Order: sequence, then C-alpha cells, then structure tokens
Amino acid sequence: MSRKFFVGGNWKMNGDKKFITETIEYLGKANLDKNVEIVIAPPSIYLECVHYLAPRNIQVSAQNCYSVAKGAFTGEISPVMLNDIGIEWVIIGHSERRNVFGETDNLIAEKIGYTVGTGLKVIACVGEKLEEREAGQTEAVVFQQVKAINNKLTESDWSRVVIAYEPVWAIGTGKTATPQQAQEVHEKLREFIKNEISEKVANEIRIIYGGSVTGSNAKDLAKEKDIDGFLVGGASLKPEFVDIINAKL
Ligand code: PGA
Repeated sequence: MSRKFFVGGNWKMNGDKKFITETIEYLGKANLDKNVEIVIAPPSIYLECVHYLAPRNIQVSAQNCYSVAKGAFTGEISPVMLNDIGIEWVIIGHSERRNVFGETDNLIAEKIGYTVGTGLKVIACVGEKLEEREAGQTEAVVFQQVKAINNKLTESDWSRVVIAYEPVWAIGTGKTATPQQAQEVHEKLREFIKNEISEKVANEIRIIYGGSVTGSNAKDLAKEKDIDGFLVGGASLKPEFVDIINAKL
C-alpha cells in the first residue's frame, strides 16, 4: 500500500503580506517533489490571499475552525465559510489549541467530526506532553486522543483525515524525536487504528510527524516506514521548507 507523502507548513501566528509574497515566490520557483502532497496553513486573515497566490501544486489549510456552520460565536470561523472561499484543509487539535486555549479531546473530536462532514479534509493532531512520556503514558494518551476522534467519524470519513503525531516536548523546542522514537509511536498508532477502526484505514491513513522538523533531520525521519510526512512549524517559515518537502528525493 503506498501512501502519498504529505508535508504541511503550519505558519501559526506568523507572517505578513511581504512574507507571503516572498514565500510564494520561492516556493513557486523551487523544484518540488511531485509525489508529495503539500499544504500551507497561514493565519486565517491571510487564507484567501494565500489561496489565490499559491502555485497550483500547493494547497492551503486553515489552522482551526469551529464545529458549527454559523451563529453567535464571536471570533470563530466555520468550515462552511472555509469551503465557501475554496479552502480544503483544516488543522484541528494542534497542541497549542489544546494546551494554550484549553481545547479538550471532546471538543476537538466534535470539530473534526463536523468539519469532515462538510467535505473538508483535516490534519488531526495528537501527541503527549513531556511528563506523560516520562511517566510511560505516551501510548495511552495518543490512543485516547484518536479514540475520541473516532467516536465522531465513520470508517469512510477517515479517508479525509491525516493524523499528525506531534509530541508536545518536541514542538518549537529544537528537540526532535529521533527517527526511532517517532517510528515507534507511528507504528503503534497504526496498529491501534487497525484494531479500533479497520485494517483498511490503518493501511491507508497518513501519519505524519511534527516537532522541530528541519531541512537537516527530515531525510532520516522520512526513511521510517510509518512516517508518511511532516507537519512543520518554524522551518516552514524559511526556505529550508523546500528541503523538507523534498526529503524523499
Ligand atoms: P515546530 O512546530 O516545527 O516549530 O516544532 C511544529 C508544529 O507545531 O506543528
């Protein structure tokens, strides 16, 4: 079963119009691996602008959305609105949403269920904190996060989901998981999905790694059999993002 390699650039709350122009320019000129699905996620205020400017081989993702079509939810954006402006992807459950803004497994699962139901595709993030890893709870934490999401999805819904395994201790810290550490969790997650959902979903779903991925560590991580791509924060703001996209070449 071959899963298309997937690389997402999560700009978080970074970038301005000048940055967008420069970034789109070098991405447009770069020789990007045609076998990679590429998605960039700018702040919501720039979604439409990036969507219009991005080269055709690069898709655009929101970084968050809510689980309702419209209504009195000040500050939120709806998947229906994203659809309306031609955005196909949303990151949901990023550790910063979980840990800075207090989003729970249940809220995240609600949002993923609703969003997938509107036809959008979701990068669903899971991952353990340092103290959870040190207490030997990594599997229990990530399995519970996936289980909560599965409660809101049908088996076929999973074809529109990419799972991003992002250990919280590796995000923005410069402390990347080793290829072995990441592979171990990815493999266990795939096994869990096989038992909990189905063999088909386990074989087809892309499980991507995130947490201090750089142009220099991406190649080794990409060699692992259950690592199907990356979700990149800091390095997606720099030209080395191209090297990460091309990690398989
Ligand atoms: P980082 O962020 O690459 O800066 O560690 C990854 C992420 O938060 O998705």
